[in-house]
Amino acid sequence: MKRLLSAPNLALATLWADQLCAAGIACTVQRPFNSSLAGQIPPDQCLPEVWVGDAAQHGQALALLDEWRHAPHRLWACPACHEIVDGPFEQCWNCGAAMPPLAPGMAGP
Ligand SMILES: [Zn+2]
Repeated sequence: MKRLLSAPNLALATLWADQLCAAGIACTVQRPFNSSLAGQIPPDQCLPEVWVGDAAQHGQALALLDEWRHAPHRLWACPACHEIVDGPFEQCWNCGAAMPPLAPGMAGP
């Protein structure tokens, strides 16, 4: 187990962990329920953290996260369930359908 990073909120930590698992990197979200301790420890130590299961994949996981966090912002409509997907994701978070190869008029420059 090796710590990757802390996320600004649990939703994002869970999303990153899910994305990493989907990429073949086993990881877990740690300390997600510590908000009751807020005020007793520094706020930046209450944030949920993403840990990678295999330390050998740490570098790969960090590279992927870096890629996702700096990916161009996308906004596209899922062809399967019509959910609007907002962010650097190539899969619908609602039904898991893949992003269309090109979403005319919706993809950024
Ligand atoms: Zn969908």
